[in-house]
Amino acid sequence: MGGYGSGRHGHKHTAEHYRSIDANKMKRSGNLTEGASGQWQWLREGETIAQIDYMTRKGYLELSYRYRETGNEWEPVIEHVRLSDVPRHFGGVQTYFKCPAVVDGRACNRQVSKLYAGGRYFLCRHCYNLAYYSQSEDRADRMLRRANKIRVALAGERGTANWIAPKPKGMWQRTYQRKRFEIGWCENQADVWFIEKYSHFLSMDERRMFFDD
Ligand SMILES: [Zn+2]
Repeated sequence: MGGYGSGRHGHKHTAEHYRSIDANKMKRSGNLTEGASGQWQWLREGETIAQIDYMTRKGYLELSYRYRETGNEWEPVIEHVRLSDVPRHFGGVQTYFKCPAVVDGRACNRQVSKLYAGGRYFLCRHCYNLAYYSQSEDRADRMLRRANKIRVALAGERGTANWIAPKPKGMWQRTYQRKRFEIGWCENQADVWFIEKYSHFLSMDERRMFFDD
């Protein structure tokens, strides 16, 4: 594994803010040449917030780093990113990454110049957005399930189209109000995600209504 400066063409790189890798930059600095290796670091205010080791093999780039999901242990990740050389119009070749993501059983394989670290893997912008949305969708589902559970516990019907059941006999008014509030809060959260996801379908008036812009 190519640690910092250990490769023959070893380089240390820094890029602020975006955790992405750029095929054009790597190509220009000779790091997509077979055998090149080094380490890439991301800094924020002078502090290293993330780092990966890379090594260029025949036809692919090997990335190795550690990743930690919130609340879990650090785990080693090795990601292989295929490289694709496309002849340029006016001579020479442009090297692209082929996005290694597999979404719903289908490989993405898009040819892109940049891959982003949105989670465990480096993915193209498109897949990164998909992952973000499906996460939001899971969260929205969870929120609705939680709201429905309380609705049913109050002897009412599931779903936002129904009234919340009146206060059951023997339940404290304060408890009942808290449960009503929780139902409203969960359903509202689910709405926010839903609207974010489908905001591009909204009319200008609707956008103004929801987003105030
Ligand atoms: Zn992709």
